[in-house]
Amino acid sequence: MNIDMHVHTSFSDGDYTPRKIVRMAKEKGLKLIAITDHDECRGYGETAGKDEWITVCPGIELASKFKGEVHVLGLCIDWRSAALLKHIEGVAQLRKHRAESMIKNLNTAGVGVTIEDVKAECEGEIVGRPHIAAALVKKGYASSPKEAFIRYISKRSPYYVPFDKISVKGAVGLIEKAGGRAVLAHPGLINKEAIEYLFPKLSDMGFWGVEAYHPRHSNAQCEEYEKRAKAQGLFVTAGSDFHGSAKPDVELGGERRGGEYLEESVEALVPFLPLGKL
Ligand code: AMP
Ligand code: ZN
Ligand code: FE
Ligand code: FE
Repeated sequence: MNIDMHVHTSFSDGDYTPRKIVRMAKEKGLKLIAITDHDECRGYGETAGKDEWITVCPGIELASKFKGEVHVLGLCIDWRSAALLKHIEGVAQLRKHRAESMIKNLNTAGVGVTIEDVKAECEGEIVGRPHIAAALVKKGYASSPKEAFIRYISKRSPYYVPFDKISVKGAVGLIEKAGGRAVLAHPGLINKEAIEYLFPKLSDMGFWGVEAYHPRHSNAQCEEYEKRAKAQGLFVTAGSDFHGSAKPDVELGGERRGGEYLEESVEALVPFLPLGKL
């Protein structure tokens, strides 16, 4: 299907503004995209939402914690929801402090990157590790964001600092409060123990769907997650998780797998999309 339900913009750690993303998506012939920035939903406000060629779904990707990190997508949210905006403002502060701590760690190890270098990479309020990676590349400490992650800022690195995250239940609750549908993002990237515990409970926890189709999932994984989602009455979604240069091998609209069940999900979302149609 010509859709992409997981896209990052410059409001978090993507390269392109929401407006540019919409233009690019139109050029690719996509019919529907969801703007799902990390802990940020205001990018949607910069898109027209709907025109003759493409529908934009207001969304978010909330970072939550359960035996590690679990990402929860919110689709068709009210991006002006007071509860959601309060949450993302809090997370923005935590992320700023966390970036400062990581910079301090790097400086102690003799890596001369400053918080100003990192801020120069950020257009929005959300500071993420990809911004630190970009600053490290610019300063010549790594030849690519990927190398910067491996050498300096991966979870295994001694310089890594986490930021406090809400629970998975808390994330689902926030999305519900904002009138949206909660989708478990890229289950294939979640810690095995966490996913085996969470998966059978998703429906009871209030999830609407599972992102069965994601570029980092093998065909076998896509099939498995779809089967397990359908078995508990959940919908499936597909998203590229497009960022731009942070993930150079991923194309906007590049996750093209998914069949009937994906069509069914899009149909189920239609009444909640801007203007209620595709
Ligand atoms: P943060 O939320 O600040 O901890 O940053 C996590 C984000 O960094 C992820 O959502 C990805 O977009 C990106 N990321 C994580 N690992 C890598 C990697 N090895 N190479 C490039 N980007 C990565
Ligand atoms: Zn990201
Ligand atoms: Fe994610
Ligand atoms: Fe993402």
